[in-house]
Amino acid sequence: MSSSGQVPSVSTFQGIGVSPGVAYGPVHLLGGETLRIADREIAADKIAEEIARLEKALIETRAQIVKLQRDLASQTGAANASILDAHLMALDDPAFVGDIVQYVRTRQRNVERALHDVTSRYVEALEKVDDAYLSERVADIRDVARRIAKNLEGDSDNALEGLAHRHVLVASDLSPSETAGLRKDMALGFATDLGSATSHTAVMARALEIPAVVGLHNASRKVQPGDQVLIDGNKGLLVVNPSSEMLERYGAENEARQSIRKELATLSREPAETRDGHRIVLSANMETPDEVEAVLRYGAQGVGLFRSEYLYLLRQTMVGEEEQARVYREVAAALKPAPVIIRTLDLGGDKLLPQQEFAREVNPFLGCRSIRLSLLYPDSFKCQLRAILRASADGNVKIMYPMIGNEGEVVRANELLEEAKLELEKEGVPFDRDIEVGIMIEVPSAALTAAALAEHVDFFSIGTNDLVQYTLAVDRVNESVAYLYEPTHPAVLELMRRAIEAAHRHKRWVGVCGEMAADPMLTMLLLGMGVDELSVAPSAVPAVKEAVRSVTLAQARALADTVRECRSATEALAYCRRLVREVAPTLLEL
Ligand code: PEP
Ligand code: MG
Repeated sequence: MSSSGQVPSVSTFQGIGVSPGVAYGPVHLLGGETLRIADREIAADKIAEEIARLEKALIETRAQIVKLQRDLASQTGAANASILDAHLMALDDPAFVGDIVQYVRTRQRNVERALHDVTSRYVEALEKVDDAYLSERVADIRDVARRIAKNLEGDSDNALEGLAHRHVLVASDLSPSETAGLRKDMALGFATDLGSATSHTAVMARALEIPAVVGLHNASRKVQPGDQVLIDGNKGLLVVNPSSEMLERYGAENEARQSIRKELATLSREPAETRDGHRIVLSANMETPDEVEAVLRYGAQGVGLFRSEYLYLLRQTMVGEEEQARVYREVAAALKPAPVIIRTLDLGGDKLLPQQEFAREVNPFLGCRSIRLSLLYPDSFKCQLRAILRASADGNVKIMYPMIGNEGEVVRANELLEEAKLELEKEGVPFDRDIEVGIMIEVPSAALTAAALAEHVDFFSIGTNDLVQYTLAVDRVNESVAYLYEPTHPAVLELMRRAIEAAHRHKRWVGVCGEMAADPMLTMLLLGMGVDELSVAPSAVPAVKEAVRSVTLAQARALADTVRECRSATEALAYCRRLVREVAPTLLEL
């Protein structure tokens, strides 16, 4: 019942469920700047203190911009770095800063409020002037104000730290690094307007085991802070002010799912073996070292994909060799003798460092991302290779290059790896000389030329998240084309078959580490297609293992043969579900 005595109206939004579970609680809106502006009265004797807060934030902001400029210049050239001159000018504008100080003094309000109102006044005035140069300054002032505001929060990267109670976060969008910074004790779950199931934000939500719904179009503009909302990460629903009957029903459904999950978790020590004795390796994907505990708890046989770029994304900057070596070593030592496959930096696309945000490409998924970026900066790449090699002395470490598109890229990456090995040898630093090297197959050109690529590596891991987007020309983070994003599309499956066949012909093992591997409806198909390893979010390990253990290899192969004849993704999926219904029906209830 609302304070006016009326029953609040219930509204439901349909999106894409990307991380299972149900969450219920008050909304915290993110990104709606005006909603987050703190507004406090400042006593006359505290004004000097308040202005000192502003000065401190200005100094921090200046240092951040200068650092960003330096990074940008060393990585993309001086021309791009000069974009930030305008930001420094806005920051140093005495009139702008003077007006904020004046506002605090005369109105006795806090700096956040003053900054917001003065910025709005400047922006409004500039927008009225018909001058292209001045209109461009609007964006600079907004950006600088946003940075100052973040520094005032005492937290330059994460707008969530100030959250005192557990909320359901609702935002237009969350970046992968913002999601990685979410704390479970603060976020009950989250819902965003943008995004789809294989966006890195969704991947991160599953890693954190936080219920999440994305692709809700305009829901963030329809909810109010403090509204009670329910999100269902299985069905992809956001319900505002749900009725008590609805809550009861969801609670019961959730409990039923939880009890199946609990039951499946008891399989943690059992092998991923079919009923007729065929074993595969079931590993886990991880983004941050914190996940080692979950990898072990869910019984994964190692790490099939360590997305190393999250080290950078969480810091919002490049990370040096020492720091990387320390983190890799810790993970490798904790999981020893199980393998840890460290994927080299896969920045770009939807995973951007601030310097990349500033030099934003028109089409970042087709641009300078991933291995292309690494090969463009051989010294930084070698620094990462050295760090991985050093960690290989303390565990079972393997290296994997992402987004390989042609043979030349693997050859060049391997040359740099050899150089890194020689350097370490000269320095007398120990490492595993026989370290295995693999590549991700996530671009159609790699799948089609897999036989040539196999000559240079020890294994393949098929990254279906990207392989699907590049094969079907469907942006993996765009909710409006999410209906076209179909892992069982015949073209995707054909490319995977080719890569698997080529790997086996060259006696290489082949895994799948995209989200497709974590869908228990598709496990039997992948088994039948001949994959040797599946790598999935830790929490997905039990259900996938159950799928493996419920079927015989003969049944899985028969399914793969049937699916090979299918003309559509829907038809293929229907055959997969039919086999699951026959041999492991509980999986349909998850
Ligand atoms: C993939 O593309 O399938 C993959 C595992 O890599 P990422 O999701 O990090 O792009
Ligand atoms: Mg990928």
